[in-house]
This record gives sequence, structure tokens and C-alpha cells, in this order.
Amino acid sequence: MSAPTRIAAIKGMNDILPPASARWEWLEDQVRQAMAAYAFRNVRTPIMEHTQLFTRGLGEVTDVVEKEMYSFEDRPDQHGKADHLSLRPENTAGLVRAVVEHNLLYDGGKRLYYMGPMFRRERPQRGRYRQFHQIGAEALGFGGPEVDAELILLAVHLWAQLGIRHWRLELNCLGEPDERRAHRAALIEYFEAHAGQLDEDARRRLHSNPLRILDTKNPAMQALVDGAPRLLDHLGEASRAHFEAVQAVLRAAGVPYSINPRLVRGLDYYNLTVFEFITDSLGAQGTICGGGRYDYLIEQIGGKPAPAVGWAMGVERVLELLGEEGVRVPEPVPDAYAILPDAASVPAAMPCLQALRARGVAVQMHAGGEAGLGSMKSQFKKADASGARFALIFGADEIAAGQVTVKALRDGAGAQQRQSLTDPAAWADALKSPA
Ligand code: ATP
Ligand code: MG
Repeated sequence: MSAPTRIAAIKGMNDILPPASARWEWLEDQVRQAMAAYAFRNVRTPIMEHTQLFTRGLGEVTDVVEKEMYSFEDRPDQHGKADHLSLRPENTAGLVRAVVEHNLLYDGGKRLYYMGPMFRRERPQRGRYRQFHQIGAEALGFGGPEVDAELILLAVHLWAQLGIRHWRLELNCLGEPDERRAHRAALIEYFEAHAGQLDEDARRRLHSNPLRILDTKNPAMQALVDGAPRLLDHLGEASRAHFEAVQAVLRAAGVPYSINPRLVRGLDYYNLTVFEFITDSLGAQGTICGGGRYDYLIEQIGGKPAPAVGWAMGVERVLELLGEEGVRVPEPVPDAYAILPDAASVPAAMPCLQALRARGVAVQMHAGGEAGLGSMKSQFKKADASGARFALIFGADEIAAGQVTVKALRDGAGAQQRQSLTDPAAWADALKSPA
């Protein structure tokens, strides 16, 4: 028989394993608390959607749709018709689809959030993966600047709660479609006049999406881009007022920000306010959260026109930043480790362990290898390594007396006392960590 081929994970897609997975769970718990504090409700949409949802919703010429999507044709049904499906590259389009499909806005605006994996076929590197995770918050059906500001404050709240200090906030206003059209014409004219300085990407985008040229990461184009006509100079009264109102709330709340007239965001559907939270601690992949207003997307996806605003943060980047900032995340350790000196201990111990667990005590049961349960000495070694604060010893003596020995392994190590085997409720709480 030939040796089985080992199959590795797909490039750019990561396993999340202990102990790192504890940091993920901790982050998700913190996010749930923050979302609850702002009255956002959870939604979970499928990981696959019809490709058309993204080609329509994200704009046909974004990088994501052009070259980063995992798309395929499903098997044909009995009529020979096959669906074009894609792994979701982001969650806003899917969330809006769900909101429209289930008519969630019938009785007013909704504040929603999601967490989950997204898929983009990018070049894997630090902070950039092919399966990555986003947490996003979206407020749909609200048009006022106070909601743009509230979403930004929600992110700021989250940074504070997580212990992240090194971030800055950049804001821009993309205006409304007619304002963008005027600006677009001015941009094309400007870039055409400097056609010789455009790189290949920029030449490709010149007539399809010139705004995206401003988002270039090519250092050779920076000077050209710096001199380009500014959208901010093409904004009308209403857009200016909206932008000013958002800033007034941020100033009142003491949130520092700067205005970046070149901030356009990677996805096409934004209007008015756009923003990014950026850190300098992560190298090139420094954007940890980005979002903005997308008042035309719901209509584009077939819903009754309604305004919306939201953001998405990159979980891998935020976790890496937590590490850079030295934020300590509690390691999950069991409260108690059950020592089982021989096979006869097991049936006697088990009801006691189950009762302790039902009362919220985290109990790790000793389990043996091929040679049986192992010596007391080796079991105590494992109890120590588990990090548990107590060992529960279910010896023959104890069991015969209807008891179990509870031995301290950390604080006051060595101290031990006997407790009732049949009434663990009487002493369970004393085993729980002080929290
Ligand atoms: P970038 O400019 O870094 O490519 P983006 O504009 O494509 O980001 P969005 O689509 O707005 O990003 O996604 C929101 C957040 O998700 C980003 O700010 C980033 O933190 C994270 N993110 C995006 N793409 C990836 C990826 N391939 N791997 C890890 N995180 C990502
Ligand atoms: Mg991108």
C-alpha cells in the first residue's frame, strides 16, 4: 500500500487553533457586548450567493469583482440550467439582499451586525488572506448624519473596550451621484492631460472608474494623484452640511479624526461619508476597519429605496494589532482536573463531575492512553499542566466513604479537604474562578 498523500490547507486560508482560538472567542464576546450596548442585532447570511448579487452590488469594475472572487457554475438542474455562484467577498451585499428579501425595513430602520468568513483571491501576505474574517455593523433605513457618527462611535467604543490605542480615523465625503459625475469629468480630463504618468491599472480605470485611481498604492503615482481635482471641491450644499454634521458629533464626543480627500474605499457603492480606521503598527496592511454610507445599494439590489451606512473590520488585523499593543486575553483554564486512580473510579466520579459542570464549574476529566489511566503521579502532572486550580481525587478510599478529595494546585497549593461525593452542590461554587 502506498503512503497516503498528506493534504495541506489551501494557500491563504488558515486554521484557527488553540491557544490562538481563545483570542478569537474573546474578541467575539467583546463585540457581542459592544453591539448590545448600541442595540445592534445579529444576522447570519449564507457564505455563497448568486454571483450577480456581487457584480451588481459591488460595481462591475472593482478589484473584488474583477479578479478576486471565487466563482463557479453549479451543477445543472433537471432543466439543464446552472446557477452562477460565488463565495461572498464581503457581507454587505448579502445582508442587504436578506433585508430586501424578508422586507425587514417595513416598520422602520434596523441596526444589524454580522461576523464571519469572507473569500477573496488576493496575493496572501501579512494581514491579507484568501479566507479572512470580518465583523460588520450596518444601520439601514436611516438617512441622518447622526447615524454615520453613531457607527463611528461604535467602532471607537470597541477599540477602547478591546484595549486598542494606536488608531487614527480618516474621513471623506464622496458626495452624491451628480456631484461625483462632475468630479469624474474633471478627473478624466486631468488624468488624460497626464496620460504619460499613468500606470497600467490607472490606464485601465481611466474611463471605467477614475475615482479608484486616487486609491492607488503605487508610490510613483502619488504626486500625480496629489494634484488631482478634489471631490470635496465639487460638493453641493446638502452634502457639505451632512459631512459637517457628522464631524460636529465626532468633535463633541472627543473623537480625533482627519479629513483625507483621497479616501475612496475599495468598493463602489458608497456615497457621502466614508471612513477608515488605520494603524501604523501593522505595516502595509494598516486598515483595520472601513465603511461609509451607501444610500443607493438597497435600491440596486431590488428593494424600496432606503438609505444605509455601515462598516466592516478585519478580524485577523485587529487580533494582530491586539498582540502588537500587548493586550492580554484571559487563557481559558479548567477550574478542576479529575484524577481517576483506577477504572472503578470512573462510574463513581462521573455523576459528581456532571453535577459540577451543570453548576458552571469547568472540569477536565483525566483520560488514559492505551496502557490504561496511568499512575497518580502522571495524572497529577497532567493536572498541573492543565492550569486547573484544583485536583479532584476519586480514590477507592474516598469513594468508599462517599467522598472526594479536593486539593488546591495553585493558591495554597497542597491544602486539601474531603467533600461529599453525592452532594457536590454544597461545595461547587468554591471551585469557580473569582471571575
Ligand atoms: P484593503 O485596502 O486592505 O484591501 P479593502 O478596501 O479591500 O481593504 P474592505 O473591503 O473595506 O477592505 O474590507 C474591510 C476590512 O476587511 C479591511 O479594512 C481589512 O481590515 C479587512 N480585509 C479586507 N481584505 C482582507 C484580506 N484579504 N485579508 C484580511 N483582511 C482583509
Ligand atoms: Mg482589498
